[in-house]
Amino acid sequence: MQPRESKTCPQCGAQVPDIDGPVHAYVPSSPGCWMTFGELQADEMQRFRYPPAHRLVVDAYMAQHPGDGTDRRDRQSVFVHLVGLYAVLEQGIPAERVSDVFRRVLRNVNDFPILRRSSGPGPVTVNHLVGARNLADYQQRAEQWAGAVWQSWSAHHDIVRHAFATDTKPWRYALAPQKWSAERRAVN
Ligand SMILES: [Zn+2]
Repeated sequence: MQPRESKTCPQCGAQVPDIDGPVHAYVPSSPGCWMTFGELQADEMQRFRYPPAHRLVVDAYMAQHPGDGTDRRDRQSVFVHLVGLYAVLEQGIPAERVSDVFRRVLRNVNDFPILRRSSGPGPVTVNHLVGARNLADYQQRAEQWAGAVWQSWSAHHDIVRHAFATDTKPWRYALAPQKWSAERRAVN
């Protein structure tokens, strides 16, 4: 097989094959990064049959590839996948219950704030998951990746935690953070 040229994915910084190909409608990864993610999921399915780590893998990838926020689906995607990372990593919610968390958080939400990373995409990318030796290794690598992605969004941890903890409309924080803080103090 011919060795493929590589290029850097503009969103996550991974070195990925420099190819033309399909990408997700509103997830601005490079085609090579999207292909790598697709191959990873196919390999995961074949070897591990949708393990609990699948949840972290999807949430980490999506949260590491935010768009510019002009598309509502993009804003919702980043927000919801950050909620997923938080639920598993910090709350210890079992992976199979995270979709229930999503439903609860989304229940009254009509729109989402544009969240921007204050620093880069973090030091771990989809490439870290490629070539896991076994299921335990895959789980460990997924946790390392997800943890790094969650940290890269540290500027917005509070809004995600708040959305998880209450039914309060979380986008209000972005629109009026002082008002939100005052309300939270009043509740506490
Ligand atoms: Zn990427």
